[in-house]
Amino acid sequence: MVCSRYEYSQTLMGTTVSLTLLEPNEAIAHTVFQIIKMLEDKLTVNRLFSEVMLINLAAGKHPVTVSQPIFSLIEQAQKVSLYFNSCFNFAIGPLVKLWKIGFQGYQVPSAELIKQQLLLIDPKNVELDTNTHSVFLKKTGMEIDLGAIAKGYIADIVKLVLLENQVYQGIINLGGNVLTLGECLTEQSGYWNIGLRKPFSISDELSGVIKVKNKSVVTSGIYERFFMQKNKLYHHIFNPKTGYPLDNELESVTIISDSSLEGDIYSTVFYGWGIEKSKAYLRKNQNLSAIFLLKNKTIALINPDNFSFQKTDTQYTIKID
Ligand code: ADP
Ligand code: MG
Repeated sequence: MVCSRYEYSQTLMGTTVSLTLLEPNEAIAHTVFQIIKMLEDKLTVNRLFSEVMLINLAAGKHPVTVSQPIFSLIEQAQKVSLYFNSCFNFAIGPLVKLWKIGFQGYQVPSAELIKQQLLLIDPKNVELDTNTHSVFLKKTGMEIDLGAIAKGYIADIVKLVLLENQVYQGIINLGGNVLTLGECLTEQSGYWNIGLRKPFSISDELSGVIKVKNKSVVTSGIYERFFMQKNKLYHHIFNPKTGYPLDNELESVTIISDSSLEGDIYSTVFYGWGIEKSKAYLRKNQNLSAIFLLKNKTIALINPDNFSFQKTDTQYTIKID
């Protein structure tokens, strides 16, 4: 079977964003990139101005009214931060800005500075007013950071736009946040093949290939953005209790779900919970599936009904739960 694919890509959100279609459609690719750019402009905290930055700049001073979709995303982010009793915390900004992991000037900050920032990251200190769509950070120095969920949120919107434009098959890849649309008509099985990166591989090797139809595949890992100092690895997902990067048995968590926002939320929540607590949760939520890569070189596949997995790496062994 001849496999025709049309791939469009741009650098956005500090990563390569690509759209794969089965038929050429330059116009829809253009629209998609415009929408991603517009949403990035609203959500980013890596520039001085955005809707989220307006909230952050007014911390300790006054509430800021934001657009309805951004308010609704912030509402969800707060709910997740408070509800799950996990490490997920959307008020993590002061720690992210202090460590600067993945940016110029990254460093291991002093314990004193970390302690100071810990006083500024309580998600309960973010006040939301559903009537005015306003957000108020009660303490000066507080900062919302939606980095853990922005890509998932945007990917779901792109999917809606594609469907509205009668594009029913394709892949949206936001730097590793992958959302597949429909079935891959150029494969007999109908599966889309999504590569799972081998942690820390410098040559883009894969640990395996995930096969899905009409699902989102989102990975959070310690190898995405990190630095080494004195033989210790410091990565970009923080433990809000200690102020240091989370340290557990996991190298990465991949979530296979219908919505990419959900995948983005759970990849961070599960990363914080670790494998045992996450497994217990997944047993009760069969609509979600997960692939955990562990530091002991085990690949744990949980709820494998929603996908199939083909291992390509001899170093790892597979465990199915
Ligand atoms: P990416 O896919 O961009 O690597 P992830 O979805 O894994 O990102 O989320 C990591 C990002 O989330 C960090 O860069 C930071 O902006 C933010 N973050 C870091 N620690 C936490 C946390 N404990 N809770 C919520 N967000 C976090
Ligand atoms: Mg995430």
